[in-house]
Amino acid sequence: MNRKLIAGNWKMNLNVKESVHLAKTVAAGVSNLKDPNADVLICPAFLSLEQCGKTLKDSPVMLGAQDVCANDEGAYTGEISSAMLLSAGCEFVIIGHSERRKYYCETNETVNLKVKKALERGLKPVMCVGETLQERQDEIFEAIVGEQITEGLKEVSEDQLNFVTIAYEPVWAIGTGVNATPKQASDMHLFIRRKLSQLCSSGTAEAVRILYGGSVNAKNAKEILAAKGIDGALVGGASLKAEDFLTIISAC
Ligand code: PEP
Repeated sequence: MNRKLIAGNWKMNLNVKESVHLAKTVAAGVSNLKDPNADVLICPAFLSLEQCGKTLKDSPVMLGAQDVCANDEGAYTGEISSAMLLSAGCEFVIIGHSERRKYYCETNETVNLKVKKALERGLKPVMCVGETLQERQDEIFEAIVGEQITEGLKEVSEDQLNFVTIAYEPVWAIGTGVNATPKQASDMHLFIRRKLSQLCSSGTAEAVRILYGGSVNAKNAKEILAAKGIDGALVGGASLKAEDFLTIISAC
């Protein structure tokens, strides 16, 4: 069984001051838990990363970004490189979140380029996959998620897979208050693990953490996190409230 990871995706919320305050509160809360049964990651907006990185310097709470450019540097207006994220103190980066796929037209191919670039530069990708409601109703969700896994991880070596985390986030469960049932999530995690084992040894596939994301909150976390094959959670809305986020961490 893998050690759990609880990751907070703050999305486009909180200014720098508010972000630092939340990072401080989460860090203090995690320290108070003494020996939490999970690793903890927060992913503030780009603008707040550097200040949050300073705030977390002596804390076990890790820092991640919500996206990264697939290129190293140059004429890519508005983009942020892996090197910039590393210099701000990031260890992780979320890649291919469904909101980026939906609003910014990211494809499995773009996701793959970003995953490879992040790994090449020493960042740990949290690669998001998940089906839409229509795809679930049409019963093609395994085909969709399977393709997201194989395309997103194309040309990623077995060594590099050790630094990859997958987040299974059914699109219909994100920000809707309707979470997948523990059985639905568990079944998909086992499916994803089987897909991974086609790309690498079973030992490596077992060690890749697969998080569930989609309306995880302080009330449902315990049940979801106890389900088979679930190595943690990617939390959106509930990660903006320190108390709720700490309750989710304690649920591990
Ligand atoms: C997310 O955006 O990754 C997410 C899971 O959001 P929420 O927890 O708000 O559904």
